[in-house]
Amino acid sequence: MKFYSTNNSAHQVGLAEAVIKGLAPDQGLYIPMDIPVLSNTTLDKFPEMSFQEIGYEVIGALFASSLSQEQIKELVDHTLTFDAPLVKVEEDVYSLELFHGPTLAFKDFGARFCSKLMSMLMEKSDRTVRVLVATSGDTGSAVANGFLGVDGVEVIILFPKGKVSELQEKQFTTLGQNITALEVDGVFDDCQKLVKEAFLDAELNTKLLLTSANSINVARWIPQCLYYFYAYSRLPKSEKKVAFAVPSGNFGNIAAGILAQRMGLPIDQFVAATNANKVVPDYLNGAEFNAISSVATISNSMDVGNPSNFPRLVALYGGDSKVLKDNVRGYSYSDEDTVKVMQEVKKSGYTMDPHGAVGYLGLKDFMAENADYQGVFLETAHPGKFRETVERALDLKLELPERLASFMDGEKKVEALGNDFEEFKGYLESLEN
Ligand SMILES: *Cc1c(COP(=O)(O)O)cnc(C)c1O
Repeated sequence: MKFYSTNNSAHQVGLAEAVIKGLAPDQGLYIPMDIPVLSNTTLDKFPEMSFQEIGYEVIGALFASSLSQEQIKELVDHTLTFDAPLVKVEEDVYSLELFHGPTLAFKDFGARFCSKLMSMLMEKSDRTVRVLVATSGDTGSAVANGFLGVDGVEVIILFPKGKVSELQEKQFTTLGQNITALEVDGVFDDCQKLVKEAFLDAELNTKLLLTSANSINVARWIPQCLYYFYAYSRLPKSEKKVAFAVPSGNFGNIAAGILAQRMGLPIDQFVAATNANKVVPDYLNGAEFNAISSVATISNSMDVGNPSNFPRLVALYGGDSKVLKDNVRGYSYSDEDTVKVMQEVKKSGYTMDPHGAVGYLGLKDFMAENADYQGVFLETAHPGKFRETVERALDLKLELPERLASFMDGEKKVEALGNDFEEFKGYLESLEN
């Protein structure tokens, strides 16, 4: 399997290089050169197949030239150890619950796949890989838990001080072992910038083997296409067209849905829903693409001012922004809208977290303007992960799932970092080779 860089289609690398480098040397994102298209005969069998069986088929089609059948099976089995149920919320509206993994957010899928694949690719090497991760909350916990105890890999997590919920923080600051958390005096975009600079620093990269487990990494990004295939196969048979609404921050999740569509899954329409960080919806609605500094909201895992996967959306539509704008509708919502809709939907018996609620809002607005659709919104986190917000909005007490509650007993251990690259570089240089 070959990948090209979104900044230069002539720059091509194999799977191992794409995964270990994370980002192309020209800062472009890797995209598969040839996206395989599954036949209708194959897709028609999915409703009778398990999530894992669908996984072997899809990952097999993508990775057949780089991995053996056994490796593909091992990867999928390691990733899909929990279900992603499709829950009917109201007529023609379904919630795809992606929060049944170990850290209760959809990022568990990508993080589990990525850690397994990296350890497969590094098996024969005696170097230590350092995984640098910037997080606005959920990436840190998913990656830390996915890589905890993996031999030959050390994970360094950068997170913005005071901008992450206590529960999220506990999930990656209390683990110890091969996981270090750096508390950055800044916002998420500062963390992301520090990580990007480290990858581009020639001196650091000759000394250390640095890689990224952010959603820019193909090993995080690609496996997310699996649950689009799965959800589609579980929708009731209908003449209606299908729309997927994705609450978005860095736009990796929606880009994986578009990958599934490129592979032949007949998704008719995507809805990109954001909070007040609405660079992409503005672009989709006719404005220039203008990165901003992120603003804080109650759906904090989507507080991203410069979405890193945006070039992938454009590339997946062959660089044609008109096709992109036709196929992806953009909507954005305030915290007030979000709380209000959480309260409304709760009355009909379904509890949404603030991120899923943004997705639901986008889907409903799209369906109000477009008849004859069945819609799926991605419920990206367990409501208990944003307990304070959800309890306040819905005036109730949430029961924390056991595996979440157990994190709360751990002791937070972090190192403080300013948002200056030289300081970060100094820290990295002090590490053992
Ligand atoms: C990361 C995250 C998102 C945003 O996903 P992107 O792939 O960055 O667009 C949405 N919801 C939750 C709960 C998240 O953790």
